[in-house]
Amino acid sequence: MQKKIKSRFPKKLLLANPRGFCAGVKRAIDTLDDLVKKYPNQTIYCYHQIVHNKTVVNDFQKKGVVFVENLDEVPESSILVFSSHGVSPAIRLKAKDRQLKAVDATCPFVLKTHMEVKQYAANNYKIIYIGQTNHDETIGTTGEAPNQTYTITKQEDIDLLNFPKDSDIALVTQTTLSFDETESLVKSIEKKFPKIIKPKLSDICSATQSRQNGVKEIVKKGAQVVIVMGSKNSSNSNKLKTVAEKMGAKAYLVDDISEINLANLENINYVGLTAGASLPEYKVTEAIEWFKKQGTQDIEEITGDQERLITFQPQ
Ligand code: SF4
Repeated sequence: MQKKIKSRFPKKLLLANPRGFCAGVKRAIDTLDDLVKKYPNQTIYCYHQIVHNKTVVNDFQKKGVVFVENLDEVPESSILVFSSHGVSPAIRLKAKDRQLKAVDATCPFVLKTHMEVKQYAANNYKIIYIGQTNHDETIGTTGEAPNQTYTITKQEDIDLLNFPKDSDIALVTQTTLSFDETESLVKSIEKKFPKIIKPKLSDICSATQSRQNGVKEIVKKGAQVVIVMGSKNSSNSNKLKTVAEKMGAKAYLVDDISEINLANLENINYVGLTAGASLPEYKVTEAIEWFKKQGTQDIEEITGDQERLITFQPQ
């Protein structure tokens, strides 16, 4: 149980809007939830965490869902859900071989990047993929053409690329990166390979961009500290933290408000609060109530760019 802070506590809480669930996360969660309700007497398996959020995963585990990292753990003929981050064709094939009843909860924005990689690969392009190595999404997307994709995360990786300047090269990115950081990597890649084909629209999804813009707005309004609610393995949540830090604020990533180190909020006037795309809103509500109990009375919601309104139906 946290103690109430005795010294000066933030006078004002600035809430970022939009925050929390995006359409792709909602669709994935609804897909899994519908299966749990439809087949109450069967174990539903999910390949990887349905979304990268501890609370959501724990809530599903309580309902009997089993999350696996290896398809060998799934009994033949079981129902298996592919998570919102997508899977490679090799995993789809393995699921088929094991006669699993696969249900795909991959976010349509992620599927779009799978299509791009597939099409470029079919036309013999080399594909530079900007993304986090070992992230579920990166593994799934680059798995569409493993011999033709080159994953880069930083400037030094670009320096190591040694294709001839006039090679046929295309660029694809992970959907949940920091817009500003990616832009600077794209500029470096373009300088090195001027003929490179870029995505027609940015692959970074609108939900990621609008949440990052929301963080910028709360820092501009004076937030000295930004609390990002989300899990440590959530790419978009980590990027919200990075954006806040780049804007000059201190930022902390927590799954639950109880993880906040109270010393980090002492003598701060304005604190900002946002949530990654996979965090349920009830965790934000709990955090707001906690701030009120600590004595923060002035709470303002800062509405930034709204993402394009998209609804994805469950599978
Ligand atoms: S953050 Fe973007 S890519 Fe990821 S699930 Fe949400 S809409 Fe899809």
